[in-house]
Amino acid sequence: MTVHLDELTWVELDQRVRDGPPVVILPAGSLEQHGPHLPLGTDRFMPARLAERIAERIGALVAPALPYGYKSQPKSGGGNHFPGCASLDATTYIHMVRDIICDLARHGLTRIVLFDGHMENQWFLTEASDLALRALRAEGVEGTRIVKLGYWTFITPETEAALFPDGLLSWELEHAAVMETSCMLHLCPDLVRRDLIPDGPPADFPPYDVYPADTGSIPPTGVLSSATGASAEKGRIVVAQVVPDIAAALDTAFQSDQQG
Ligand SMILES: [Zn+2]
Repeated sequence: MTVHLDELTWVELDQRVRDGPPVVILPAGSLEQHGPHLPLGTDRFMPARLAERIAERIGALVAPALPYGYKSQPKSGGGNHFPGCASLDATTYIHMVRDIICDLARHGLTRIVLFDGHMENQWFLTEASDLALRALRAEGVEGTRIVKLGYWTFITPETEAALFPDGLLSWELEHAAVMETSCMLHLCPDLVRRDLIPDGPPADFPPYDVYPADTGSIPPTGVLSSATGASAEKGRIVVAQVVPDIAAALDTAFQSDQQG
């Protein structure tokens, strides 16, 4: 049986809900530059591929991944001024996610995972959850539980050491760098332009933000630190570690829901 929610018929979905509602994982991506070597949809492809593997382990469904996200920020994504970045205002994004959560819950899919692939989405996913829960309570739809996570936060110190033998600079500067490039080499190898993987010093940002963004401190490639240490093997290590760990964490998160 497929793990993809949109490949089921309504009759099949209804039966799944009656049998005990499955967890639904909603991958939250973006359309954002990822250097000269990774596709604009990287932040969607990554969580969508990981979610499929996690869903197979825990009997969950994967909702259609969101292809647009909140605006790329210079210090974590290079900035929204790069060609191809198409993003949503925060209020638009919040309301889109709120509406999806509400309709899933109204149809009995009350166990929802917001599976973030794009750092800039994170607080707006929180706000969408809060507004959705408020609306559902007002309607009398009870028992909704939402888990929000960024897959990168599951990377253990051991995996981090395998990725970065010389130490990690920061996860923000990892945009389109070693971790994402490695995972894409493993998960979506045909989409990586291997001959264009960039080198270069890490971005050096001031400890404040400027609006409009000061593009002078952003590396012209859009990659915030060197990606030359990337490999498919490192990507395999990350995926092999985070998939079972996230699956176990979701089991725990929703088990305590049933007990409570
Ligand atoms: Zn990314």
